[in-house]
Formats: sequence, C-alpha cells, structure tokens
Amino acid sequence: MTAELGDEVDQPVGRLVEPLAKVLGPRTAGPLGKLGLHTTGDLLRHYPRRYNEPGQLTDLSSIQVGEHVTVMAQVRQATVRQVRSGGYMLAAVVTDGSRSLNLTFFAKAKRPLHGHEIKLRAGRVGLFTGTVSLYQRTRQLTHPDYVIVGVDVDDEAEALVEAGRPIPIYPASASIPSWRIQTSVRTVLGPLTEADVPDPLPAALRQERTLSTLYEALRDVHEPFTDDQSRRGMHRLRYEEAFVLQAALARRRAEAASQEATARPGVVGGLLDRFDAQLPFTLTAGQREVGVELARDLARAQPMQRLLQGEVGSGKTVVALRAMLQVVDAGGQAALLAPTEVLASQHVRTLRALLGSLAEGGFLGGDDDGTRVALLTGSQGAVARRENLLDAASGRAGIVVGTHALLSENVQFADLGLVVVDEQHRFGVEQRDLLRAKAASAPHLLVMTATPIPRTVAMTAFGDLETSTLREVPAGRSGVTTHVVAAENARWMDRTWRRVREEVDAFHRVYVVCPRIDPDEPRAGGAGDRQRPGARTGDDEDGADLLALDLDEGAGESRARRPLRAVLEVADELRALPALAGVEIGVLHGRMSADDKETAMAKFAAGQLQVLVSTTVIEVGVDVAEATVMVVLDADRFGISQLHQLRGRVGRGSAPGLCLLVSGAVDDDPGRPSATRLRTLAQTTDGFALADVDLELRREGDVLGAAQSGGASSLRLLRVTRDGDLIAQTRVDASALVAADPTLARHPELRDAIEQQLAGEREEFLERS
Ligand code: ADP
Ligand code: MG
Repeated sequence: MTAELGDEVDQPVGRLVEPLAKVLGPRTAGPLGKLGLHTTGDLLRHYPRRYNEPGQLTDLSSIQVGEHVTVMAQVRQATVRQVRSGGYMLAAVVTDGSRSLNLTFFAKAKRPLHGHEIKLRAGRVGLFTGTVSLYQRTRQLTHPDYVIVGVDVDDEAEALVEAGRPIPIYPASASIPSWRIQTSVRTVLGPLTEADVPDPLPAALRQERTLSTLYEALRDVHEPFTDDQSRRGMHRLRYEEAFVLQAALARRRAEAASQEATARPGVVGGLLDRFDAQLPFTLTAGQREVGVELARDLARAQPMQRLLQGEVGSGKTVVALRAMLQVVDAGGQAALLAPTEVLASQHVRTLRALLGSLAEGGFLGGDDDGTRVALLTGSQGAVARRENLLDAASGRAGIVVGTHALLSENVQFADLGLVVVDEQHRFGVEQRDLLRAKAASAPHLLVMTATPIPRTVAMTAFGDLETSTLREVPAGRSGVTTHVVAAENARWMDRTWRRVREEVDAFHRVYVVCPRIDPDEPRAGGAGDRQRPGARTGDDEDGADLLALDLDEGAGESRARRPLRAVLEVADELRALPALAGVEIGVLHGRMSADDKETAMAKFAAGQLQVLVSTTVIEVGVDVAEATVMVVLDADRFGISQLHQLRGRVGRGSAPGLCLLVSGAVDDDPGRPSATRLRTLAQTTDGFALADVDLELRREGDVLGAAQSGGASSLRLLRVTRDGDLIAQTRVDASALVAADPTLARHPELRDAIEQQLAGEREEFLERS
C-alpha cells in the first residue's frame, strides 16, 4: 500500500514546507531545529502543552529542584545589593500568593541590573523560565528569562487585550524559551491564509461533526483569545489525529481484504485430525471457539488478520499449532516467529513433543504423512542452518520456527500460507510486512499476545486486526500467590531463600530474576537493549524496561539508590548461602551463546539445575511445569505486564505457584507508581484488570511504544486513556469514508496526511534498524 501511495503522491509544496531558517532566520531556526522543528508546518504542529490563565499564578509548590520550568508569578520585591566578591546582585522574590521563588541576577556593575529592577516592579505579573536550583534551602532561578505581562507590547490598548489572553506554554528548551516559540509561531502563522493550509478532514465530515478547518484550529490553539477557543481548536486537532490514524488503519484493512490469499480449508483425516486424536488433554471451551474462528478464516481466499490475546498460560501455543496443521494439511507451510532464541527453541521442543511421530515426516520411524518442524535462529551453526533453510525452501518442513532471523533475505519458503507471530509486543508492523512479503500470495496472519490489551489500545495499535480472546486457563492449575518482600528486611529475605530450599526439596524448580547481568557494568543488559526490529544481531534481550521506569519514578530518586542486582553476583551469593547448600544453581542471560542458553534451559527443565538465576530473557513464554517459585529482585524496576509475564512462568503444573516480588523501600512512599504496581500485582492475577491499571500508570509513549504501535510518533494529542470515545467515533467515520473511496482519490489531502504519517514511521523504522 505504501509504495503505491508513494508513487502517486506529489511532493507537498507551499508555505508549510518552507524551512524555518528562511522564514525566521538562522538564530531562531537553530534552537527550533534542535526541538525537531524544521519547517513552517513542523512549527505549526508544535502545539502548546497548556495555557496559563492571565493573572492565574502557577502553583509554586509543584516545582522540583533540577526541573526546567516556566511559571507565572507575581513580583513581591526586587532589590539590588553589593555582594562580597565586589560585584552586584539583584535578588527578586516572586510568589503565587502563598509560596515563593527567588530570582537572582549577577553583574559586575550596578548598571546592567537596572533594567531588571525597573521591569520587576512589585505587584507585576510575569512568566519566568529557568532551571530550579537550591540555594541556602530556598528554591531559585538564576538569570531566568522572563516577560512581564502587558509590558512587552507597544501600545496601551493592545496591551490590555494581550494581558487578558490565555498564554500558550510550549514544550521548550533552555536555548529557546516558550515565549520565543510563541513569537516565532505568530510570525509564521500571521501571513498564512486558509488556502495555504490543506485540510486532511473533508468538508462534509467537518460539517457533520461541527469541526473547524485546520487553519482555524491552528489559530485557535496558537493565538486564542479565550479558553473556549483553544479547547475548540485542540478538540479539532485531536479529532484529526485520531481520524488520520483510523483512516490509515481502515486502508490497511481494506487493502488486506482486497488481497488474495490461498484458501487453506481443513482436510478430513489430515494431520490436524490425527493430532486432535492424540492430544493428551481436552481443549478448553475458549480454545475450541477460537479454533473454529481460525479454521473459518483460513478457509477463506482473503488473508486472515487476527490478534489472539490470551492470559498467560491459557494455551495459545496449541491453538496456533492447530491452525498451522490445517495449513500444512492444505499443502502450505506455516512460520512461527518468536521474540527470543530461548523461546524459539522452546517452541520447537514443545511442537515436536506435542506432534510426536507426526513431526518426523521422512525420518525412520516417523509418520509417512508427517511433517517436520525446522528452526532458524541468528546464532545457529552453519551446518544446522543450511539444513533448516533447505527444509523450509523445499517445503519438507511444514512448520518453520524462528526469531527475526526468519526475516532475513535468504530464507525461502516453498509455499508460505500462515505467519504466526508470538508475543506481538516485541514486533513491529514492518516486520510483519517483511515476513508476509515472502509468500507468493498474501499469507494468513495470526498475532498472539499474552499481554491483554485494553480496547482503545487495540483499536489504535492493532486497529488493522480482528481480535480473539482466550480468557480461561486450563482446569487443574493451582494458580500463583504473590507477595511483596522488603529487600532490606533480613528476616524476610532469609525466609525467602529457605522457602526456595523447601521447594527444591519437594523436587520443584525456582527462578530468580535480576534486572542486570554483570555487577561490574553499570547498566549491562539494561535499557536500550530492548529488542527492536533489526536493532541487534543477537535475538535475546535481558533488559527490563528500565528506561521507561526511570522516567516515571523521577531520575533523582533512582540515581541515589544502591546498584541493581545482577545475575552473576546473585548466583554467587546464592551458591554461598548455607540455606541453599547442595542446590544446583545455574544462570541464563542474553550474553550467553545460543548453545549455552539452550543447555541451561534444558538442564533446568530436566531438574539438573534447580535454581535458575536469570534476566528477563525468560519473561515470555518459557514453560517448565515443575517451576513453582519466581523470585524477582528489584521488582520495582519492572513494568506490570513484565512482572505478570514473569509470574506466569510458575504454577503451570499441578503444584501451586509462589511469586515473591523483592523490592527496596517498599514502604517509603506507597503512592509511588512502582509501589502501586507491586501492590496491584499482589492483589490480582487477572491480566485484563492489570492491563487497565498499567494503562493508568504508564505514560502514553510506553503504552503505544513505537515497537508495538508502529505509529506512536504521530500521536501527539491523543491519549488512549482518555480519548476512547473519540477513537471509536473516528474509527466509524474513517471506515465509512474509506469504504466509499477506497483509494482516497477524492480525498487527496487525507491521502497526503496518511502518507506523511507513514513516512514518519518508516523513518523511525530505518533509524532503528
Ligand atoms: P500461553 O498461552 O501462555 O502461551 P502455553 O501455550 O505455553 O500458554 O500453554 C501452557 C501450558 O498449558 C502448556 O504446557 C500446554 O501444553 C498446556 N495446555 C494447553 N492447553 C491445555 C488444555 N486445554 N488443558 C491442559 N493443558 C493445556
Ligand atoms: Mg506462549
């Protein structure tokens, strides 16, 4: 779709693409460029973050030391005095009515301070910007930039009007304060007319939804006279954002529906039937229902586009396998894409075990009509790789499992009919497309995730997919109990390791998860190591989502704390613990070779290792039935869905599971997001309830992280937590429009807007690769 669009779309011309350097001069364009604003259009899409009411002062209690702030405050006093070093200082105090903030300006002579003294007259109100520091226990701004309301304009009448207007506060930087951005926006917006600003929203739709034009909306948000006006403008822009996104998704859906796929109807007496007959358990009702949906989709000549969400341990693998077998029965092949090597190898083991002789096609003693399961990973040896490549290309392997190595160019399929993506949150839209490009006709697509996705997120991030849900877990599971353990409480920690010992003595297995690999490296395997499409050569990832969590905790706090626990160090400590004497303790992390990882997992599964100290490389999908205890160290450093995933690794057999979330400073501040996360996890195991809490706590960027949405960059105003109704409404509006005009031939502005959005995504994707 993108190529076809790209060919037809003209390069946008006109005033919106004029470089800011030309319009504003290099001195202003420079700092704006650092904010990512290069053209007139960029600047006009740089919306105010909020508005200050004229005369309404900022609550000064809310500002933090170290923060770059812009505050509206009233001058209480300003005095110049000599300082000991011989120079002069102007000390002003501004206030919000109750709290105050100091402003200080230094100069060698008295003269330069005089200008400030005149402006900073007591009683005047101004906007002050700078970085908050602490001096003699008082918060202050040193050499702040400022404007005094109503003073910095020329004529009196204008001054009065100006003084009554809401003041837009822009995301700014130290090199360009908010009001300089405001002036720049005015300079740029001033000479523009309706005709200069093409509107992606069709006129008929604007009328129906009583929305202003884009030109009007930009004026409303950048230069409002009243709050109503800025609100109206913002609403219109938010609607547009949601609408363009939904129109893009609607086009994707329409395009998929117009593609031809090979129909893969079931075959009576085929592999699937024989597999069902030998299945050691009964499918849950949910598994059966979803199975019927998938069977029906696969039998169609349009590509299936389906998202399967299922609670951790709800048995998605079997559901996927049954779909894959239907495709193999119909003469096609299925690819299963896993996020990590550990998980890919485990899938192969599981699939082979479940299939038994059905997976030994062509082997002595195997089933004559059976198929083969091939594995392709990045770090596999050359010989194994060649053989597996051949199995895939010849069609001898009906099922090919792999990491993103499956996306590489030299992997060929004889007849790829179905692509299953496990644990979608690690894969981007682009990767799905790459894999789909390997088939002659569009393959069917099944995306699986164990992270329940709230409806609004599903509509934005996965809006091009239909959804199926597995809510129940198979009967006979005893579930998992979760406790939060205070790391500094020696007695509790002692109890934790003795508990581990008891489980090992009962022939059970224990995971201990740490946020880092190596104690000597400050952030080994940490943030930034998170797997991104093509971002790295290895396949596994150890990183907790540390970066994101740093943000929501406030950087200062986390810096001050002791270093995070590391796999290698913790393994040594546990080996030295008397309570664990004689227990075999192994390690698993992303820096080990594929073989070593494989060996560690196999030994753990077989019970030769009883305790596995690991990074979150085990987070997704790892399945060892005898594992009963999950100890997570520095649990506050992990996100809700990660912890829920980790917890899902235990209690999968008949013995009850125990999850111990070890965290420092648990009681310090019960209101902190990390405290809320841990508490919520201890209270519920319902993944859907957790997803909702997660959505509340996380920032938008994390919820719709680029890797999972493939479109977060374009969401500036939309908040999935708040704008559910708007998202639903624009989905209906956009679907109707795309149905009536599938190529958007009659809506070139909308088509341009979608193309620009996709171009942004592709850029982002290329940067990540
Ligand atoms: P997930 O949905 O988290 O990927 P899995 O597919 O790994 O879960 O399944 C978890 C475990 O449950 C596996 O050991 C699988 O064989 C088993 N399982 C799946 N379906 C059933 C069922 N209907 N009854 C009993 N066990 C099942
Ligand atoms: Mg799974």
